[in-house]
This record gives sequence, C-alpha cells and structure tokens, in this order.
Amino acid sequence: MPTFPKNFPSHFPKSKKEEAEFGKGKEDILICKKCKSVYWYKEWHHQLDDYPGLRKSKRLKFTICPACQMILDGKFEGEIILEGVPEKLKKEIKKLAQNFGKRAFEKDPLDRIISIKENREGDVRILTTENQLAQRLAKKIKQTFAQKGKISISHSKKESTLRVKVKF
Ligand SMILES: [Zn+2]
Repeated sequence: MPTFPKNFPSHFPKSKKEEAEFGKGKEDILICKKCKSVYWYKEWHHQLDDYPGLRKSKRLKFTICPACQMILDGKFEGEIILEGVPEKLKKEIKKLAQNFGKRAFEKDPLDRIISIKENREGDVRILTTENQLAQRLAKKIKQTFAQKGKISISHSKKESTLRVKVKF
C-alpha cells in the first residue's frame, strides 16, 4: 500500500491559507457568494443556521471561499488519473466518484470534486480541491474496481498538488 513520502505534509496548508486570508478580518462571519458556505471560528460550514448563538449584531461579509476560488482559478489540489479503464466500468466509476465527492462535501464544504473527465486515450481524470480526498477516492476506486491494478502517488511541492495514478 503506498504511503505519503516523508516530509510530505499529510494535509496541504489549506488551514494556514485560510487563516492568512480570512482569519484576520474584522467581520465575524464570511459568506461565499458562489456556494453560500459560511466561515466563522476559522472554519467553513454549510449553513449559517449552525452558528452558535447567532445574533443580528454579527458582522457579515460576502467573499469567495477557497474551494470556489480554486475552481475559478482553474486550480486543483488533487488529481486522479485512471488508466486503462474497461469501457463497461466507466459509468459505475464516475457514479462512485460523484457520490464520494458529495459525501466529502457534506462533511467539509471545501472538499469537492471539481471535474470527472475522459481524455482522448480513454483515461479518466478526476480533479479535487483537496489532496487527501483524491487519495482516498483513488484507493476506493482501486479497491472496488481494480483489485489487481497498480496505484502510484506523486506530488508537486511547487504547486502543492497530489497526483494519484491507478492502472487497471
Ligand atoms: Zn464557495
């Protein structure tokens, strides 16, 4: 089973980025204009209703959350490439990936699958906003559909992206 290389952060500095960008403002609550995620106490949440003891005196500000920003910028943190996928499995794999992404998003509004696409060679490429999501999903796909396949993980420190390849 592949593991992260040494010195590789188990989690990219998403939280640090957030703190730098969002932690120092005077507003109490930030709301993403695009996905309506809300930010308070240094974390992104799905709904403002969950805010403990919400009062009208709280200062609100509209912004763009890091996940939506990443998508707008055409960036990603995790990339899965599925090579040699049998045609008959593709539909099911895409469905599994979509459901996986949905569950991840429900847990954390910043964890998302950005896209699931097929290239000309027939490889399936899945992009995620979060690197561990890519790793978990790739493992799940291998476990479910390609037990005899091969999985390999590489990362780019410069772009802070993680790439997981599964060969069927
Ligand atoms: Zn958003």
